[in-house]
Amino acid sequence: MSECIFCKIIAKLIPAKIIFEDDEILAFYDVNPKAEVHFMIIPKTHIESMLLLQNNHQQLMGKIILKANELAISLGLKSGYKVQINTGVNGGQEVFHLHVHVLGYKG
Ligand code: AMP
Ligand code: ZN
Repeated sequence: MSECIFCKIIAKLIPAKIIFEDDEILAFYDVNPKAEVHFMIIPKTHIESMLLLQNNHQQLMGKIILKANELAISLGLKSGYKVQINTGVNGGQEVFHLHVHVLGYKG
């Protein structure tokens, strides 16, 4: 098993507040929320960051974005929200397993 903390969440080796999962993606709340609602969606396959995306990730990334919107609306972010993908050292990325942040306030 890799030392990747998000791979460990996928493998249920460490706990997380999971919102949604299927065979390809997992959504869970950020442990240190920066908004009233703050969750992340990750691919279950270990992709380090946006910097390593390939053409064959197109369907997966589209699925993540569509799921981000669906979950944001269902969690009450009906007036909008922010999507953030910190990418690489210069992009402020701290966990090197690609993740899409969704942040917002209800209403
Ligand atoms: P970044 O890599 O800068 O996009 O940020 C990584 C994010 O992962 C931060 O917002 C952390 O609060 C969050 N995080 C780190 N460990 C966990 C964990 N075990 N469960 C949930 N969120 C986490
Ligand atoms: Zn990983």
